[in-house]
Amino acid sequence: MSLSTKRVLVTGGAGFLGSHLCDRLIADGNDVLCVDNYFTGRKDNIARHLGNARFEALRHDVCFPLYVEVDEIYNLACPASPIHYQFDPVQTTKTSVMGAINMLGLAKRVKAKVFQASTSEIYGDPHVHPQTEDYRGNVNTIGPRACYDEGKRCAETLFFDYQRQHRVRIKVARIFNTYGPRMHPNDGRVVSNFILQALKSEPITLFGDGSQTRAFCYVDDLIDGFMRLMATPDTVTGPVNLGNPVEITVADLAKRIIDLIGSRSTIDYRPLPADDPTQRCPDITLAREILGWVPKIALETGLKRTIAYFEQLISKGDEHAKTITRLQA
Ligand code: NAD
Ligand code: UDP
Repeated sequence: MSLSTKRVLVTGGAGFLGSHLCDRLIADGNDVLCVDNYFTGRKDNIARHLGNARFEALRHDVCFPLYVEVDEIYNLACPASPIHYQFDPVQTTKTSVMGAINMLGLAKRVKAKVFQASTSEIYGDPHVHPQTEDYRGNVNTIGPRACYDEGKRCAETLFFDYQRQHRVRIKVARIFNTYGPRMHPNDGRVVSNFILQALKSEPITLFGDGSQTRAFCYVDDLIDGFMRLMATPDTVTGPVNLGNPVEITVADLAKRIIDLIGSRSTIDYRPLPADDPTQRCPDITLAREILGWVPKIALETGLKRTIAYFEQLISKGDEHAKTITRLQA
C-alpha cells in the first residue's frame, strides 16, 4: 500500500448509496472496507469488487463494536426507505444510535475522520421551505417515522458531542431524496415503485392526492458531494444539505415516469401514510459556498438511467423486481 492510499471504511457499503460510494473510492485508488449486515443491502451491488485486493467485505452489524484500523469512515448503515425502517423500528433506532456511538468510538481510537449520512427527515414535516440547515425541524416523536427521524437526530447530537468533547473530526451531510441504479427494487420508495409499476403497466400507487413535493438528486451527484465534504478542512463539520433543489409534486413525478416509459399505467390513488411530509426541498446555498457543489444531472437524464437499470433487472428475472411491496397507510 502506498503512503497516499487511504484506508476507508464504508458502513452500509452494500446498499444503494454505499455501493456507489465504494465504486468511487476504489476508482480513486483507496483501500475500501465495506461493512454491512445485508438487511437491505445486496451482495450483487458489490460483486464487481470481490476479488480486488483493494476491496474487502465484512458481514457485521454496526450495533456492535468494530475494531479495525482505518483513516476515514463513512457511516451509511441504516435502512432508508419507510417500509424498511418501519419493519423493525427498534432495530432502526439502535442502528442509528448504537451505530453512531460505535463508529465515533472507532474514529476516536484510530483518529479517523468520520462522515455521517444524516437526512432531510430530521426536518420532519417542515414549516420552513426550502429547508436551511439552521431550521430545527418539526418531527412527531411518537409517530411511525420517528424511529428513523429521531434516531438520525440523536446520531447528529452524538457526532457534535464527540467533536466538542473528544475532538473527533466529523462531517455531517443531510441527504435529501436520492435515486438511481441499485435502489432496492422492493423498497417501496417512490422512484423505484413508479418505475417498476410503469414498466409492468401496473397501476401507479399514488399516495394522497399527489400534491406533496420532493426534490430528487441523482446518485452520482450526491456521491460527488460526499467526497467534497470529506475533503474539507477539519473546521468544516456540517451539517450541510446535499440534494437537488428542483422540487416537483409526486403526481408530476408519476406523469414524467409514465411519459418517459410510454407506459399504459393508470393512477391508483391510495391514502397518504401517517406523517408523510407535505413538502421537502433543500436550500443548498451552504453546499455551494463551502463545497463548490451543485447537482448536474437533470431529472430526465437520471430517470432514464434508472429506468434502464430496472428494465435490466426485470429481464434478468430478479426475484425482488417481480413483486412490489405495497405500503399500506
Ligand atoms: P439502503 O437501505 O440501500 O442502504 C443501507 C445499508 O445499510 C444496507 O446495505 C443495509 O443492509 C445496511 N444496514 C442496515 N442496518 C445495518 C446494521 N445494523 N449494521 C450494518 N449494516 C446495516 O439505503 P441507502 O438509500 O443507500 O441509504 C444509505 C444511508 O443514507 C442511510 O443511512 C440513509 O439513512 C441515508 N439517506 C439516504 C437517502 C436516500 O434518498 N437514499 C436520503 C437520506 C438519507
Ligand atoms: N409515494 C407514493 N407512492 C408510492 C411510494 C411513495 O405516492 O408508491 C409518495 C410518498 O407518500 C411520499 C413520496 O412519494 O409522499 C416519497 O416517498 P418515499 O417513500 O420515496 O420517501 P420519503 O421522502 O417519504 O421518505
